[in-house]
Amino acid sequence: MVDNKNYNQVSVLIVGAGPAGLACAIQLKVEKPDADVCVIEKALAIGNHNLSGAVLEDKALHKLLDAAQPDWRDSDEAKDILSQRIEKDDILFLLGKKFSFNIIAVMKIAKKLGLGFGEMLHGGDYVVSISKLTNWLGKIAAKVGVEVLTGFAAEDIIYDNAAGKATGVKLVDQGLNKKGEKQPNYVEGEVIKADFIVLAEGCDGLLTEKFVKKASLKRFAHQMYSVAVKELIKVSPEQYEKFTASRVVHAMGYPIWTPLIGPGIFGGGIIYPGAKNHISVGMIVGADWKYRNFNPQDALVRFKKHKFVKQFIKGGEVVEAGAHMIPEGGYYAVPRDPQTDSIGKGNVMLLGDSAGFVNMQKIKGLHHAIDSGMQAAHAIIAAYDSPEKAAVKYTQLVEASNIDKEMKSAMNYRQTVAKFGNLIGFPLSVFGKLLPKFDVEQDYEAMTEADYRLKPDHNFDKDTFIASFEKFPPFQSEYGAYSIKAIKKFLPLMRMGKHWSWDAIDSKTQDRIGKIISGECDENIKVRVREKTINLTDNNNFQGLPIWLASYII
Ligand SMILES: Cc1cc2nc3c(=O)[nH]c(=O)nc-3n(C[C@H](O)[C@H](O)[C@H](O)COP(=O)(O)OP(=O)(O)OC[C@H]3O[C@@H](n4cnc5c(N)ncnc54)[C@H](O)[C@@H]3O)c2cc1C
Repeated sequence: MVDNKNYNQVSVLIVGAGPAGLACAIQLKVEKPDADVCVIEKALAIGNHNLSGAVLEDKALHKLLDAAQPDWRDSDEAKDILSQRIEKDDILFLLGKKFSFNIIAVMKIAKKLGLGFGEMLHGGDYVVSISKLTNWLGKIAAKVGVEVLTGFAAEDIIYDNAAGKATGVKLVDQGLNKKGEKQPNYVEGEVIKADFIVLAEGCDGLLTEKFVKKASLKRFAHQMYSVAVKELIKVSPEQYEKFTASRVVHAMGYPIWTPLIGPGIFGGGIIYPGAKNHISVGMIVGADWKYRNFNPQDALVRFKKHKFVKQFIKGGEVVEAGAHMIPEGGYYAVPRDPQTDSIGKGNVMLLGDSAGFVNMQKIKGLHHAIDSGMQAAHAIIAAYDSPEKAAVKYTQLVEASNIDKEMKSAMNYRQTVAKFGNLIGFPLSVFGKLLPKFDVEQDYEAMTEADYRLKPDHNFDKDTFIASFEKFPPFQSEYGAYSIKAIKKFLPLMRMGKHWSWDAIDSKTQDRIGKIISGECDENIKVRVREKTINLTDNNNFQGLPIWLASYII
């Protein structure tokens, strides 16, 4: 909730309460308690826009926590979020629907020889829920005195070209209909002025990309992206035990790559354990796929049906699903100021995924996001009286840190695979820094007329990401935003459910639901489901959904 404090002018404004933005805010407040630090986050609660299930390299996080909360190891959050150390690390090559080969031994040899592949090992890391981790950082930030304003999305950065600095950030206008026309409840988005602006919006950030243009930052190579789709599946205790809570699986090959006969797409599948009896299954796919009719959900469904994967999730229930992008272009795709080489410009700094600090050889960006947040905090402190020097200072610190070392070691990886394809590109990429820089096209330019030959024979609900043959997803408090469009699709399905009884709800609620169906509600409205899990097979809980929905929308 916003109190009466004036947030129109702050010293440090951070856009995005992900790991990068929160790490920056926490470190800054710890070292400079009198700094006026405000973080704005578009999600209604911290962590809502992060997909759960990730492997975390812990060094940077431990450093941040040691500074902010020396007794953090005894906290309930630490015991919960950092309870799963990876003991079993499987890297598989999947061939067809049935066969799987564990190639971890090859990776271990590569590690010993110092080859890029070896970076893919994850033993000793933690497997964490990113949303829980972010939520925890949000609590620590609040404790050290950071103002975190959730539910505020920024839409523009105000940049003074002549002065070479940004003066503030504009929040989105409220009360526009889907054509952008002002409604009676229209409120113009406010401008928050700040001395320092930290862009920590994650991949392909709205302000970040506007800032790159306004401040004429340049990338030495196009940014490349992947699309990641993930589901959290509730499985049986036996399946969870069989998988184990300390194991992660990364899989190459089927269904996106079969050497020689194709398809040939960059990426792979992941299986991570979640909280008790939950398993995350995901597919990360390079957006430079060449098949005109491919979509990553197709690949996820095929992956889930592979014999190896199926044994752990068969009969399970999807309780969360989401999609996210990952910046893959690496070192060459980090936007820099051509004059100073800084990652940002003047008083504006780019952090974490906004800068593109992801090491695709490791498939990891969390540790760099946190580290870059801490480096930005140090830079702000060093440049406190001359904000226009912050981006240069920040870049010096990043270049002296592990971020730069790792980004350089993987600098050619993604471009090499994009240029030569998986079969030649992967082995060639071991030469890493020794290879020349390869120019590759923009992701979308790779598209051809070719068809994806493994297209599954079912449709998807595009609003919920769930394949139509699968169980209807329950609504869950943790995974909250559903569009009216999605709700409209659910309602007819709910009527067909064997426990559904339209008559069981009161007429006022029926009327409200009717408005949703007849289109009297704006389809762009997203509604949040705050009730506890509502399961179609559970008559009592299930009735809460329409009642809640109707009371929220009207
Ligand atoms: C499926 C998937 C799996 C991954 N697995 C791993 C893994 O195993 N290990 C690993 O280390 N990394 C992994 N990553 C990468 C990792 O999640 C990111 O590198 C990391 O989250 C980046 O942190 P960030 O703070 O820069 O951005 P984010 O975590 O994306 O946070 C950005 C925040 O900014 C908010 N925001 C964006 N725009 C605005 C705006 N205009 N106004 C207000 N708020 C805004 C967003 O809502 C979000 O909360 C994975 C990524 C994906 C998608």
